[in-house]
Amino acid sequence: MSKDCIFCEIIRGDRPAEFVYQGDTVVAFNDINPKAPVHILVVPKKHIRSINDLTEADRDVVAELIFRAKEIAKDQGIARTGYKLTFNVEGGGGQIVFHLHMHLVGWK
Ligand code: AMP
Ligand code: ZN
Repeated sequence: MSKDCIFCEIIRGDRPAEFVYQGDTVVAFNDINPKAPVHILVVPKKHIRSINDLTEADRDVVAELIFRAKEIAKDQGIARTGYKLTFNVEGGGGQIVFHLHMHLVGWK
């Protein structure tokens, strides 16, 4: 957990969010500024800055992000119509929140 991280605050329950999933390893909540009818952030509970900071110990976390996104897409009714899974990495990659997260973006 990081003191000054807004996603850690959400995970701790210190900042509101519209959760669509809360598990042991990852959570998912609606993006506050959605770019599509479905725009969900799938976020590890562990504070990891970006893809660059992943270690071997995080393999299961990364797998859970993707497998959970698959289930959420099904729940949201966009599995067949399709969706994008995106990681922005550091400033040049468009990352503005430095707690690892995967965007799940889809159109119904
Ligand atoms: P990124 O550019 O990949 O770092 O994306 C960060 C995303 O977090 C953006 O799409 C923001 O709209 C979203 N965001 C920022 N603050 C919040 C918040 N408090 N609750 C939900 N989403 C947020
Ligand atoms: Zn954090």
